[in-house]
Amino acid sequence: MRHVYALAELYAARGDVAAARDEYLASLDADQGLAVLLIDDAAVVAAAQHRRPRKATCGRCGARLPAKRHRCSRCGLARRTG
Ligand SMILES: [Zn+2]
Repeated sequence: MRHVYALAELYAARGDVAAARDEYLASLDADQGLAVLLIDDAAVVAAAQHRRPRKATCGRCGARLPAKRHRCSRCGLARRTG
C-alpha cells in the first residue's frame, strides 16, 4: 500500500496521475514498477484526498498555527484562509 501513498504525494504535487506514475516508476526496479502499474488511478486520487493536510504555518515567521487559531501568536499575522 505504500506505493499508493507515494503516488498520491506525487499526484498532489503534479496534479496528474500519469505524470506522477511516470516519475515514481523512474525511481523503482522492475518488480516494484509492476506493482505500481497495477494500482488503479482512482485509488491514487482517493489516497491523495485522504492525505493528512499539512500543518498550517505562519506565512511571515513560519510559526506553527494551531488548527483553530486565526492569528499567529508570534508575529500577529492573520492567517490566510484557503
Ligand atoms: Zn507569524
